Amino acid sequence: MKTVGFIGLGVMGFPMAGHISKAFPTQVYNRTLSKAEDWAELYSGSIALSPKEMGTSCEEIFLCVGNDDDVKEVIAGDEGLLSSLKSGSIIVDHTTTSATLSREMSNICIDKGVNYLDAPVSGGQAGAENAALTIMAGGDKDSYEKVCETMGHYSKFSKLMGSSGSGQLTKMVNQICIAGLLQGLAEGINFSLKSQLDISDVIEVISKGAAQSWQMENRWETMSLDQYDHGFAVDHMRKDLKIALEEAQKQGASLEITKLIDGYYKDIQDMGGNRWDTSSLMKRLQNND
Ligand code: NAP
Repeated sequence: MKTVGFIGLGVMGFPMAGHISKAFPTQVYNRTLSKAEDWAELYSGSIALSPKEMGTSCEEIFLCVGNDDDVKEVIAGDEGLLSSLKSGSIIVDHTTTSATLSREMSNICIDKGVNYLDAPVSGGQAGAENAALTIMAGGDKDSYEKVCETMGHYSKFSKLMGSSGSGQLTKMVNQICIAGLLQGLAEGINFSLKSQLDISDVIEVISKGAAQSWQMENRWETMSLDQYDHGFAVDHMRKDLKIALEEAQKQGASLEITKLIDGYYKDIQDMGGNRWDTSSLMKRLQNND
């Protein structure tokens, strides 16, 4: 049976690798070794001490690290995967990065006979824990089909969107749509509270109509309770919005609201909310009232 490799055991990667380990022999690597040790106490699998070491034992390797630089280091650094991976191996990158990075990594990998898929995810910490992520992939069709079985152990839906970088472009659309929506939801809840309406009654009614959204269903209550520790951090969102804004500039696409909301998230970082979740737009609003 194949051994599957997983690199990056953070909020998302830790449970994703856990699901894989229930189906296949699994090897994990994380920059901070103690997280890999914690993982190996909870799940069955081995620990690699570098991506290079993992490349000698695995031919299907999944990443969920932080940003473009992390992906570059794991793949093409001195101790990176490409220094040891066999030709025909596949790297699946679940990190949210720029599409430029995906194309660059894909080209470097192809030179070594390795396939690289960009495959960012949506669904947050709960989606990773409950094996209910959505995956949007870019790259070679044969490679995508080969890794679908493994990805099926932690996702509820996945789709190949096109050539390399298409997964990341789709993820940008996802973040663009979420940014404005969350601000609208924050304004609606804040308005309800100021108007002395019963917020749970308001949500009960409007969530059955055209204003309904995942964010409304899953975040209205915690937002009205001033609780913002639900997974996707403001720092990660700013990284994602920067990527989207830069890509939009290249494409000549206007992102007026996204630009505005990115500035609001900067305000939240200035308030000390780097690790608060993205629904903390509500806290900024109340702070300014
Ligand atoms: P996180 O909690 O910060 O975890 C990132 C993990 O990657 C950490 O364990 C980190 O190791 C490891 N790492 C970073 N650079 C590394 C390197 N060079 N070599 C080895 N390991 C490295 O982040 P996360 O929330 O899981 O998010 C991961 C990615 O998924 C991000 O791109 C994020 O934008 C995206 N995403 C997150 C969510 C969410 O809800 N959290 C949802 C969708 C997409 P250390 O322990 O050393 O820091």
